[in-house]
Amino acid sequence: MAKIKIIIFSGGIGGAKLIEGFYYLINRENLTNQIDLNIVVNTGDDFLWYGLLICPDIDIIIYTLKNIVDRNKGWGIDNDSFNCLNFIKNFYDDSLSWFNLGDKDLAISIYRSFLLNKGQNLSKIVKIITEKFNLKINIYPMAENYMPTMLETDLGILHFQEYLVKHKAQPIIKRIIYGADSLIQNNEQVLIPQNLESLMKDVDIIIIGPSNPLLSINPILHIPFYNKILKEYKNQFKNIIAISPLILSKAVKGPLVKNLIDLGYEPNNKSIAEIYCQFITTFLIDERDGLLDYCENLSKKYNIKFLTTNILMDSIEKKIELAKFILNLYI
Ligand code: GDP
Repeated sequence: MAKIKIIIFSGGIGGAKLIEGFYYLINRENLTNQIDLNIVVNTGDDFLWYGLLICPDIDIIIYTLKNIVDRNKGWGIDNDSFNCLNFIKNFYDDSLSWFNLGDKDLAISIYRSFLLNKGQNLSKIVKIITEKFNLKINIYPMAENYMPTMLETDLGILHFQEYLVKHKAQPIIKRIIYGADSLIQNNEQVLIPQNLESLMKDVDIIIIGPSNPLLSINPILHIPFYNKILKEYKNQFKNIIAISPLILSKAVKGPLVKNLIDLGYEPNNKSIAEIYCQFITTFLIDERDGLLDYCENLSKKYNIKFLTTNILMDSIEKKIELAKFILNLYI
């Protein structure tokens, strides 16, 4: 029997938790012969730093699955040291010192950049690193290009990392400039990883993880290839489910509520459903939020089914439970 092909669209922390749930579920219940798990990761957060390509979302997912992520900080490798950064400060002014990377974390970026400089494309490099970590999962960058998300703010135009890390998400965002739109404006082609392109045409279930819709998922959806195919799939009533990153109108972590307010949205599930309305057939929200009047209205208007369950993943069991809930909807 053909395997069920699942693709999860993901940013970093929120997406990684759901991916972890699926990964453990599939391995624990011996579903590897039945389910083919694939991840499309936002690379809008990617960042050139000391000549290295840093891929925060891809790395968080890999470290989370390998169970070496620093769960307190939410990024980096657990118990990492910072010798390299502390030493480099002796040579270089501190204009880059707002960004931190531990020694092991840095090693991954050195290796990735080494392969890039040898002419390898990003998707192949991610595959190599995933295999070196012995992870049985296909992780794809959303595209091969370097295509950072830039933010027009009250402090001027900032790279996403400058906004988030250097300025601690304090600037007011006036506009998000997605990498795909910038490339297209410069007449450059967005290169979709080859295997992913064929997989997208043959997928059974698409899951939009509980990531930040504006800063983690929209960079993917702004790429014409995904934008077009998801809209077509929605018209064909394919299984495309999004999980809300909000619980009781609050983000579990990160600046999502502020981002929504900055850009004129009310910070609630209704806004998230409207952001995704052209692309999804099901929207999963937390049972504490419940199905309110707006759900029925939006359900009719955009043809979206609203479902509720516990979507707070604060333990491995809850991550697996959520993955199981989603899987049971379709198989
Ligand atoms: P980033 O790229 O590291 O910012 O990570 P994401 O965009 O993938 O994740 C950030 C989002 O994840 C935030 O908006 C959080 O509200 C959401 N999030 C984090 N943990 C959970 C959780 O346990 N459940 C749900 N539903 N959302 C979560």
